Amino acid sequence: MNSEERAEITKERARSTAPVEPLVSPGQCFSTPIPCPECGGETEIEIDEYFTGSRKPTPYGFRLMCSAEEREFEAALDENREPEWDHQHWQSSWQAAIDRAYLWMMNSGIRVSA
Ligand SMILES: [Zn+2]
Repeated sequence: MNSEERAEITKERARSTAPVEPLVSPGQCFSTPIPCPECGGETEIEIDEYFTGSRKPTPYGFRLMCSAEEREFEAALDENREPEWDHQHWQSSWQAAIDRAYLWMMNSGIRVSA
């Protein structure tokens, strides 16, 4: 397989993971194809801020979260204990993933419903 074919497959994968209906509700969490920069697991996004006209997220108006970490936080809250997790959330390790997530949302046409 040459690099051109590989690039085509990568593009195909990016397309196939995009939501079929890119309309999300305010406050809705949705999964992304971007791996967690700390554990390599799945990530999800919650949009906090979007443009009123296009209803697309603003470049800094969303949170990229590690799905496994979020579930652990929820479980810890339910069980009234401290969460067991070691993610550091340093900007130096998360910024590239956040930038990729924003590009992915733009390419997928993700918008927030009224
Ligand atoms: Zn993680």
